[in-house]
Amino acid sequence: MAVNAAVDYCITNHLQTSSIITDSRSVLLALANVNTNSEISIIKNKIRNYNGTIHLFWIKAHVGFAGNEKADEYAKEATRKPDVDIAIQYNTLFVKNIMKKEILAEWQRRSDDSSKGREVFSILPQVKTSRVQGDFYLNQLLTGHGALAKYQARFFGKESSCQCGHPIEDRSHLIFDCPQWHTIRKKYFPPCFRDSDIILLIKKTFELTLVQPSERMQWDSSHYLHPKPLRWLNCRAV
Ligand SMILES: [Zn+2]
Repeated sequence: MAVNAAVDYCITNHLQTSSIITDSRSVLLALANVNTNSEISIIKNKIRNYNGTIHLFWIKAHVGFAGNEKADEYAKEATRKPDVDIAIQYNTLFVKNIMKKEILAEWQRRSDDSSKGREVFSILPQVKTSRVQGDFYLNQLLTGHGALAKYQARFFGKESSCQCGHPIEDRSHLIFDCPQWHTIRKKYFPPCFRDSDIILLIKKTFELTLVQPSERMQWDSSHYLHPKPLRWLNCRAV
């Protein structure tokens, strides 16, 4: 780290009062921070224990300060060297970020290649940690799992028909057709919902619950769908 090297220079040459000018705001902020990594702590201790005075200043990068431009030039030149002079350890935050990106990429690869969970994949093809949530009813519509009779028949050998008499109770039937939900559909769905794609319908519901978590209403057993009017674009009036 350049600041570390500059501090070493001041100490080695016994400079009584010196000024180190850097364009690295992150290093200065880290030096001012109580919780710092090992290399920053080393610099802090050197400055603290030194008999002379070392001032630290920040300047804007790439605006023509001769010394700063020269330092950049040397830094660039150093990147072209075949060997490194000093190996600097990655800090924890950097490693965490790399790991997070790698984990997400691997999750995406597995999701793309998998033959399972295709109902969710058809709605949400991109993996994301931010939308993980525990909404019992919404999750059943997203996955097609849970209380839906089609799922109960597949996994537990139960009857696949709906209480209304339709032979298959799946999410498409509940959202678009089941007469049991007629009142709720009429109250909360846009007039043109039958022309809408089921994926879009669930997506809109899902986005709404994410965008306005504070306004989310409590679900109860009479509500399979979000009890709030959905905002629809290109919706035809009846
Ligand atoms: Zn039904």
